[in-house]
Amino acid sequence: MWLYTRGFRSPRKLPTMMSSKRNTVQRQLIMSAVKELDIHATAEQVYEHLFQKHPTISRATVFRNLSQLAESGELLNIGSFNGSTRYDHNCHDHYHMACKVCKQIFDIEVEVELSEIFKRLKQPEGFDITGFNMSFSGICWNCKDSAQKP
Ligand SMILES: [Zn+2]
Ligand SMILES: [Zn+2]
Repeated sequence: MWLYTRGFRSPRKLPTMMSSKRNTVQRQLIMSAVKELDIHATAEQVYEHLFQKHPTISRATVFRNLSQLAESGELLNIGSFNGSTRYDHNCHDHYHMACKVCKQIFDIEVEVELSEIFKRLKQPEGFDITGFNMSFSGICWNCKDSAQKP
């Protein structure tokens, strides 16, 4: 029994260590792609950006790592805009506004404590609310300028 346990464990250890090292490199690549793009990128945009330099990276790897990075708080999942989840490297407390014309997403600072809303909610029974998502929409400076040109 002892031999069986020992034999079962040791061969598994090495591949695990090697793959976790590869995972770290991939995670760092994905993190810096989100920073470089700096557009509240979708997973698809991150993948396309990385694919240019790293054609061996798979779409599934990029998608999986992005959601893991958002879960661990290294990136922010700012919710879905125009049907795609967006990722933000800027993790400080801020909100977003989406341009209805060019579909770009911009940062906006909000000075009131929006989490105050929590205190005024009628808690639905049996449902634990752990977060909320709020964003603004409108027409950005660039799109307004080009609309005004004759
Ligand atoms: Zn715009
Ligand atoms: Zn942002």
